[in-house]
Amino acid sequence: MTFVLAFCMIFSLFSIQAPAQAAGFTDVPSRALNEVNYLVQGGVVQGSSPTVFNPDQTITRAEAAAFVGRAIQLNGTKRQTRFNDVDPGSFASGYIESIAAKGIMSGASNGKFSPGKLVTRGEMAVIIAKAFGHTGNAETALMNLGIASGMGNGSFGSAQTITRADFAVFLARAINPAFRLKQNITFSSNMKSTTNGLNIRTGPSTSYPSVGKIAAGTSVTGAFLVGGWMFVKAGNTTGFISMYYLTGSSGSGTVTQPTTPPSTGTDSRLQSQTIIIDPGHGGTDPGAVNGSLREKDVVLNVGLKVNKLLEQTPFKVKMTRSTDTFIKLTDRSTFAKNNKGNVFVSIHVNSVNSSSTSGTETFYYAAGNPHVSDSKLLSSKIQARMLEAWNLKDRGIKKGNFSVLRENNMPAALAELGFISNSSDAAKMTNEAALSKMSIAIYNGILDYYKAKGYDINKLYK
Ligand SMILES: [Zn+2]
Repeated sequence: MTFVLAFCMIFSLFSIQAPAQAAGFTDVPSRALNEVNYLVQGGVVQGSSPTVFNPDQTITRAEAAAFVGRAIQLNGTKRQTRFNDVDPGSFASGYIESIAAKGIMSGASNGKFSPGKLVTRGEMAVIIAKAFGHTGNAETALMNLGIASGMGNGSFGSAQTITRADFAVFLARAINPAFRLKQNITFSSNMKSTTNGLNIRTGPSTSYPSVGKIAAGTSVTGAFLVGGWMFVKAGNTTGFISMYYLTGSSGSGTVTQPTTPPSTGTDSRLQSQTIIIDPGHGGTDPGAVNGSLREKDVVLNVGLKVNKLLEQTPFKVKMTRSTDTFIKLTDRSTFAKNNKGNVFVSIHVNSVNSSSTSGTETFYYAAGNPHVSDSKLLSSKIQARMLEAWNLKDRGIKKGNFSVLRENNMPAALAELGFISNSSDAAKMTNEAALSKMSIAIYNGILDYYKAKGYDINKLYK
């Protein structure tokens, strides 16, 4: 039997401390500084540099989707969307797709999302009301809650555009009542902690500091959800708890109980993982050649870029070669084994006699290497990302009897970016922007593999 005890309470504004390493924006006006810092602390918004937030810039639909999507912890992994005018590589593509799937923002009937279009105050109200589950007229709801106020002339100013600073203020108020203009919160749902030492945090993410801990079985009352986090009161403490650690009625609406603990950004287990990057050929072995374009140069360029991306993460990374030197095939797998690699990625480009053959493929070894299924998984993840990057023909993932795969004892994949013998594939191999895109693809593919293995790597995606 469940009954819901509803009561209304007024609580005093508790102060939100700016993080010690406050964002350091020099251009945010004081009226928005605490709110912007609060959102930066949770990774909800970011500036164009550590000191520049561009507070007066009007906000676009893509930015609004990313801000709100991060606030309510939607999947922001860059990807193909249902819209025909959103670049899958755009910073907001993942959030746009997630927010559309939730019905919080939608596109036009012509299949366009118009990511660069400016957001009006009226649209902002609708987006925030939907994202935070406020029903009825959006503008009225936000004003009643003290999330928004009208303009000086009494109107809401629905048609006016909105700046990044003002959007941040509204969003911070929507998340945390401490920023609101009114302090009328109803704690109406009864729940219990399912774990000891459960943190109550100042915001809906593990990036926010803990303001108290409760033991397993402790009763809390919940007011509202921000994504998978409930704003609760436990004793005299108010703050956010992940729904993953609560049972009982969640009050308004249906909540999908999160099936995984809240993201801490980077998994501490990553530090013990070593990635081996193996650019093929080198030195006296140019690999495949098309005119002056040589495989050994292309794959070294990409390998160095992937290495650089991985160096910025907790992963350890080692390259079989980082210069134009010849290394025997068996020395490559021996190097990987000696360095206790956990993942091996060999980078190559293809070549055939027919100049019309084009496309991307990835190989794994299906016999000797004891990690067949993981090698196949790794290959499929890298292949999917490479296809997104260069949009070439999908030649699939294949079993390949290559020495570096066969003689290895860790999950291993050999990526063939494209055909150097095909002029349009080769054009990408001489284009620095395309090579950077491909390097990010291989990097993200490795992350996808770890994600599939249950690692928490969301914050590492490029
Ligand atoms: Zn090769």
